Amino acid sequence: MTQFSFSLSATDGTARTGVISTPRGEIRTPAFMPVGTAATVKAMMPESVRATGADILLGNTYHLMLRPTAERIARLGGLHKFMNWERPILTDSGGFQVMSLASLRKLTEEGVTFSSHIDGSKHHLTPERSMEIQKLLGSDIVMAFDECPALPATDAEVAKSMRLSMRWAQRSRDAFGDRPGHALFGIMQGGVTRELREESAEALKQIGFDGYAVGGLAVGEGQEAMFSVLDYAPGFLPEDKPRYLMGVGKPDDIVGAVERGIDMMDCVLPSRSGRTGQAWTRRGQINIKNARHQDDPRPLDEACTCPACRNYSRAYLHHVFRSQEMISGMLLTWHNLHYYQELMQGLRDAIAAGTLSAFVAQFHAQRAEGDIDPL
Ligand SMILES: [Zn+2]
Repeated sequence: MTQFSFSLSATDGTARTGVISTPRGEIRTPAFMPVGTAATVKAMMPESVRATGADILLGNTYHLMLRPTAERIARLGGLHKFMNWERPILTDSGGFQVMSLASLRKLTEEGVTFSSHIDGSKHHLTPERSMEIQKLLGSDIVMAFDECPALPATDAEVAKSMRLSMRWAQRSRDAFGDRPGHALFGIMQGGVTRELREESAEALKQIGFDGYAVGGLAVGEGQEAMFSVLDYAPGFLPEDKPRYLMGVGKPDDIVGAVERGIDMMDCVLPSRSGRTGQAWTRRGQINIKNARHQDDPRPLDEACTCPACRNYSRAYLHHVFRSQEMISGMLLTWHNLHYYQELMQGLRDAIAAGTLSAFVAQFHAQRAEGDIDPL
């Protein structure tokens, strides 16, 4: 059986490209993972998600443990079978969403008690329970259970939270055990403080993981602060393991993170934007509900080969959005995910060719041009 492994094939500056091998298939890096929160990437069939070029999806432990429950998914053959996605799945640990969605949270050394945002029922999540849930789901890449402090937080609060997360990382490692073909990733915390990030990375390396995530960013600190952490934080992590930046982001965040040595990212943005009439293209963001599109026979992006751009005009996309037709979210989500995956392919090719800086310069120049002029 194929084991979980990571091999780098080229670097360009601090950027890297390579392949993560898993028994369920390869993940080309840098990789963008669409988010399938409730065992679906909203408005997309799994085969359509694959057609955009995605090698791996992200599933949310918090949502799935509440509904339909991890035990039910396990009885039905695991998450891959349940949602009809046979390729790799990464699940988060639930920690972040307990903090952002649940109510009546009570945090102790042991774990977190909280009330469901769906029906108010009471639940308990610990590192051990998070590992159990992710195993029941059948996740290929399991995330250690961590705590993400609410911002703004003082250095002392960030340090205290990070050290708790490091103790939970050890407990996650112990509970995960030995599962050939499955990977466990640790999560670096420490906010925007270099010393805390370094301390966190050292603690994780001591424990030993199959990959390492940079957590606690993309939580409202802004791109400049995020990049300033990414200027040094990936360098604290082992070179021969994948580095995952959680919850990022906009296309220019992704490009900046890849330049700084990140291998994997996930974000709801392309799918969520698709449902609110926002399209991401080479020329930046387009709001399809804008009246300037209503008579425009041209596609969103003439260079894009997705079904929304090949077969439909801006006028049609504008009409179905205004009419609140379901196909609106379907087409725009497809386009956005296609654009994101094409961007990742462009980054991978540029790193392999040693031409990343030219690629990045062109990326920014095209966005600076802005959308095509109205007819
Ligand atoms: Zn398109």
